[in-house]
Amino acid sequence: MASIGFIGLGRMGSAMSRRLIDVGHEVWVFDINPVAVKSIADVGGHAAASAAEAASHRDFVVTMLPNGPDVEETLFGIPDVASALAKNTLYIDMSTIAPDATDKIARRLSDMGVRMIDAPVGGTSEFAERGQLLILAGGDPRDVETARPVFDAVGREIIYCGPSGAGTRTKLVNNYMSTALNVLTAEALTFAEAAGLDLERTVKILTGTTAGKGFLTGAYDRKIFSGDISPEFGLGLASKDLNLALTYGANLNVSLGVGAAASQVYAMSRADGFTQNDWSAVFETLRLKAALPGKTFNA
Ligand code: NAD
Repeated sequence: MASIGFIGLGRMGSAMSRRLIDVGHEVWVFDINPVAVKSIADVGGHAAASAAEAASHRDFVVTMLPNGPDVEETLFGIPDVASALAKNTLYIDMSTIAPDATDKIARRLSDMGVRMIDAPVGGTSEFAERGQLLILAGGDPRDVETARPVFDAVGREIIYCGPSGAGTRTKLVNNYMSTALNVLTAEALTFAEAAGLDLERTVKILTGTTAGKGFLTGAYDRKIFSGDISPEFGLGLASKDLNLALTYGANLNVSLGVGAAASQVYAMSRADGFTQNDWSAVFETLRLKAALPGKTFNA
């Protein structure tokens, strides 16, 4: 069993450190909140007096802190954790932070000869309690493999996302999509209710259409991911339908901000000449605006 330092015992960190203790690891914990430290010490953790003490002489050190500045402060503030990390300690940041913060931290630690992986998680504290988190790991694949004893205790699935920083980037892309989709979903349901529709019936219907199923495995897979933007559903028609919905929604005083932003993208795509192409061509328009190289479809 491994000796683990765990820093940050909030909703996620306390559940994760408990799991690590439950499977038999020796876990040294620290949080600026002494109540959180005591609650983990009460279930078999070792209370450290400082983050540096939690991190000294460990096989693994995990941080589960709110944001990048907290991680940087913990690692490089005074007293610092970075110089307490032994050469054979693997440092794992499981917080959700900005990619440039991950890159900066990884560079500084690498200059000090410390190995780091970024491994933010998917799932709430309830998932953490059951050891059911999704772990999105970035870094040297050998280090990700080395981290198995930690990941296996808290996660149901460990996905290798790529080199250092890829875990953090994947997490942000995922959360961008899910958080925006949350608002789009709320908009659509508010729209349905204002239009006098039965909510339960509407939810059932939307669950079975592209609206509920999403684009990644359906419409995009059949069309633009296969290099084909010939129209299965024409972009011009999709744009017309969205604008009909926006006009009707405005009449009902429903706020449809995500849809209004989407309408601008369809307009750009029409200006790019994709009106007669598949509606998945909005992806190509956004790629063009982002100056990404190559094309997603065969001309
Ligand atoms: P939280 O606010 O509940 O806990 C953060 C903990 O960090 C607190 O106990 C706080 O006292 C401690 N802390 C802050 N600064 C510290 C420092 N310098 N040294 C030591 N301890 C310090 O947050 P959380 O919900 O546990 O989330 C932690 C991370 O996990 C965040 O990056 C969050 O975005 C991510 N995350 C959260 C969830 C979730 O459902 N809560 C899900 C996935 C990812």
